Parts: sequence; C-alpha cells; structure tokens
Amino acid sequence: MTHTPNGIHHVTAIAGSTQKNLEFYTGLLVLRLVKRTVNVDDPGTYHLYYGDEAGHPGTIMTFFPWSGAPRGSLGAGQTGATAFSVPQGSLGFWHERLRAAGVPVEDPKARFDDEILAFADPDGLRLELVAHDGAADLEPWQDGPIPSQNAIRAFHGVTLIERSLEGTADLLTRRMGFDEIGSEGARHRFQASNGGPASRVDVLVMPNEGFGQVAVGSVHHVAFRIADDEQQNRWRDEALADGLQVTGVRDRNYFRSIYFREPGGVLFEIATDPPGFTTDESVSDLGSSLKLPGWLEPKRQELERTLPPLTLPVGEPVTS
Ligand code: ZN
Repeated sequence: MTHTPNGIHHVTAIAGSTQKNLEFYTGLLVLRLVKRTVNVDDPGTYHLYYGDEAGHPGTIMTFFPWSGAPRGSLGAGQTGATAFSVPQGSLGFWHERLRAAGVPVEDPKARFDDEILAFADPDGLRLELVAHDGAADLEPWQDGPIPSQNAIRAFHGVTLIERSLEGTADLLTRRMGFDEIGSEGARHRFQASNGGPASRVDVLVMPNEGFGQVAVGSVHHVAFRIADDEQQNRWRDEALADGLQVTGVRDRNYFRSIYFREPGGVLFEIATDPPGFTTDESVSDLGSSLKLPGWLEPKRQELERTLPPLTLPVGEPVTS
C-alpha cells in the first residue's frame, strides 16, 4: 500500500502559560517558533508551532495554551512521553543545560540501543531526548543559538501508555505502515516504514493503569504524516470500511487533517504534508507574525488586542 501514513507529522499538547511555554521550547530546547496562529476552535487563544528551521513535518511540536485550566493526569490512553532526536555524545550538554535552568532531569539511561534523558516541561509534560546513531546526519538549525552538533534534530517518537497491546498493535501494523521491531520489558517498539526521524511509536503496556485526564501538561493528540489529499481520502475510506470512527477532513491551513481514537484511547490525526508552513511566510520569516486563516482576518485587530503579548527569549519581541 502506498497510501499509508509515514511516521509522525506533529504532536500537539496543552500548555498553561503561553510565555513560559515559548521560553522553554525556544529558549531552552532551542526549537524554532515556526508559526504563531490561533486555535481555530477557540480563536481567542494561541496555537504555537515549534519545529526545525524550515518547519518540516516530523519536527513540529504544537501547543494550545489553556491559561488557568487545571493540570491533566497521566494514565492509560495517553501519550506518556514525547521524544526528540539528538546526536550521540550530546546528552552531557543537555543534562547540564537543563539542570542549570532548574529543570528536574533524571540521569541518562539506556533504552534499546540508545541513551535517553527524561525530564518535563514547565507544565509537567513528559519529554525525552534520545541520543542515537544517525541523528547527527539530520540537518540541524545552522544559525540557532546553541552549537549545532548538540541541537535537537526532529522527533524520535512517542510512547503511548496502553492497558493492552493488541488493538493498538493491530492498527499500527495493519493500517498505519508500522512494523513491530522489538520489545524491552513492557515496552513494544514500532517503526514506520521510512525508518528515519519521527518514525517510532513505543507502546508501554500497563494493564492496571487508570485512565488519564487530558488537560494542561498533556499531549492532546499525535499526528501522522500522509503524502497528499488523495492518499488521505483513500486511507480514510478504507479505515471507515474497517469500522474505525474517522472524522471528516478539516482544513488546518498548513495541512489537512482527519482524527480518530486508536483502540487504547489516544487521539490520532492523519495530516497531509502539503501545503506546509511556508505557504504564508518565507522560511526566514517563519513565526515572526500572527497568522490567521482567511475567515478570521476581519477579526485581526480584535484578536491582536486580546491575545497576550509574547516575547521571544532572546529579548526580541514577536511583532504582529
Ligand atoms: Zn494536530
């Protein structure tokens, strides 16, 4: 089948303070703010996108800031951790950098053939840096503010917490182009057929775990890549015929999306690669101004008045 998804497109999570979120992901982790727009389902709030220099699928971490909302709780049916790829030999740099910033960070540990560093963002969202063979070959942000040999390259993958393996494993392998490539204790690793960055989904099987509550500090959904609209439609038709409850296609300006819950309860999305984040700004201008879908342009002045001002950590204000 050619019309299968191919690895992770983006991961969307819920933040508390917009400014703290911006400072953590751009200032400390040195991802680039590649898009500043609003949550189209709640236009009075931001939707921030972080990624690599050009905003490639497979590097995009996005946040809905829900100021004042309660924190979620981690449990079954949720994404337990989001992992980024870094080059081998860089974890010492990251351990020191995170500790110096007051981020509680565990000592590096081994998982499969890799070394990982686990920590959490200011809202308690669980993150990992995975140092692995091949990460150094991925293009870093050349002009970023840290030595490029240490820079985050892309997603490595996500860990899903599930009460059982079978339903999720069946979906991943039969519908979504993944192969099961190994297991370590309760952790089962699946890899997308591209085998490159953002290609791994780990299912951590915890049969007695209670279900979590998605709120601040939780992943809202994991999106997987698909090449274009036609392949997305074909995939959707087949999934519907197979009994999966898939939504209609929604236009998200930078990609088109369909959503469904995988059998363990995690919200999945299939997102098209086109048109991408350079559809309304050049690579050099990514993230520099508030972008709105056409139907919200008449409300721009009102939105710019009510959305909280944001300041990039280097002291450079984000202009509107
Ligand atoms: Zn999404």
